[in-house]
Amino acid sequence: MSVTSEALSSADEAIAAARPAARRSRQARVAWGDNVVTIGGDAPVRVQSMTNTDTVDVIETAIQCKELAQAGSELVRITVNTPEAAQAVPAIREQLDRMGIAVPLVGDFHYNGHRLLSEFPECAAALSKYRINPGNVGKGDKRDRQFAMMIEAALRHDKPVRIGVNWGSLDQELLAALMDENARRAEPWDAQQVMYQALVQSALDSASYAVELGMDPGQVILSCKVSGVQDLVSVYRALAKRCDHPLHLGLTEAGMGTKGTVASTAALSLLLQEGIGDTIRVSLTPQPGESRTQEVVVATEILQALGLRAFNPSVTACPGCGRTTSTTFQELAKQIDDFLRAQMPVWKARYPGVENLRVAVMGCIVNGPGESKHADIGISLPGTGEAPAAPVFIDGEKALTLRGDGIAQEFHRIVEQYIERRFG
Ligand code: SF4
Repeated sequence: MSVTSEALSSADEAIAAARPAARRSRQARVAWGDNVVTIGGDAPVRVQSMTNTDTVDVIETAIQCKELAQAGSELVRITVNTPEAAQAVPAIREQLDRMGIAVPLVGDFHYNGHRLLSEFPECAAALSKYRINPGNVGKGDKRDRQFAMMIEAALRHDKPVRIGVNWGSLDQELLAALMDENARRAEPWDAQQVMYQALVQSALDSASYAVELGMDPGQVILSCKVSGVQDLVSVYRALAKRCDHPLHLGLTEAGMGTKGTVASTAALSLLLQEGIGDTIRVSLTPQPGESRTQEVVVATEILQALGLRAFNPSVTACPGCGRTTSTTFQELAKQIDDFLRAQMPVWKARYPGVENLRVAVMGCIVNGPGESKHADIGISLPGTGEAPAAPVFIDGEKALTLRGDGIAQEFHRIVEQYIERRFG
């Protein structure tokens, strides 16, 4: 079998084309103290999350914000729905500052945001960004006035805003007007296309009005969330074509567990690959007993898997098959993964670059040595019938062979020593 140079060059082109496209948006600055999180332009794609505590419960909310931030969330959104919640916001901010957590807080407003931001200036000042839903700012002639009040608060406190359209709360007056217009077309679009148009139009009209009121266009982030993967892709492609505001991506109400994770990953990956999206949130419904931080874990894994960012050392593990009846490599892979993840908040400061570490834990001789050589540090465990020995590879070279009952502990120690030596 021969491979022609022509075939090789088209393979090179295919590889180059497979890389994520460059993004082309303006840049927003979301800040708290010295912590300035840029969104859009040449900034890395940012991870966001949202609390599910009662904002009035200052301690519980501050603790969850801290957990989300430590898991890798660069912005944390909190519900601000009542005067009591608005009053709690400065206290939450203070708690976080006391804990040394400078993550910017985003206020999520619906229906009464104009009043809360005007009547509670300390809340407006403690937040680093305001989320405004144009479908929920008011009806009729109140809508523009109340929207303007929120933008005026953003200008007064020098904060960016996200105009976050959601199909569950889409501006019904705009949708009705577009439906009427569509009915007059010689060849009317289907209802779904009109809905896409309404989502995009609502975001763009609101952004234009915010700019008219004095907002810097870069400080106006847009989102148009829907819960279907293909719907999200269509809407964001249209939105990205028609503006250069930074875009926040997320599949709304993605669902629970595997379904929510897979749907979010599919939707976000398709768009990020095209260079669409400057910040992401994975809207997972936590399973009973599951930590809220799971949504951050999934978001960071999506960006890491796409090669857009590195948050944690990666652990490559084989799935196992009939060549190994032992689950040792699965247990070891999980132990190592949990260990690395748990250490990261401390290691980030102590070992710069440790997030790029690649570890391999493999089940037998078939792919074990090869995969281990590609990693920074890898172990190939013995498969069924193989000699009870586990070669360890460091920087592509076989370094030693582990034997006996303490293989897991030994490997654990070798990984720690490697991190200390290489990143310390
Ligand atoms: S490395 Fe070995 S045990 Fe793991 S999947 Fe491949 S053949 Fe099976």
